[in-house]
Amino acid sequence: MDHKPSVLVQVDLHAQYVHLVITGCVTEANQHALHPVVARARTLIPSVTVTVDLTGAAHLEAVAVELLRAAIHHEHTLSGSGPAEILVPAVLSHHPPVPHHANPLTGGTRTRTGSPVLRAA
Ligand SMILES: [Zn+2]
Repeated sequence: MDHKPSVLVQVDLHAQYVHLVITGCVTEANQHALHPVVARARTLIPSVTVTVDLTGAAHLEAVAVELLRAAIHHEHTLSGSGPAEILVPAVLSHHPPVPHHANPLTGGTRTRTGSPVLRAA
């Protein structure tokens, strides 16, 4: 089964905030894909706090949150990049199992994931 995160980058043009809105699946196996996105976001506007919003994720693993938190802290210590905080939902969600695996011939059901979208708020 395909577990992938999607990232929407929201940048406030008055330099008030940079939000990374994460949807889809954030698991131990794929959370590393978010590291460069977070690192890049923290360089967009110096000294602005980057918020990594995981509250909209359909599938969120506790260990993934911890790994992400550690990576963000490490990055901050290492390169002195701007502050970042993680928003975690009160209850970790897990989407229901997909009833059938996506059929490569019919295309199955795929959610669009991939490159972050840059959107000015
Ligand atoms: Zn998932």
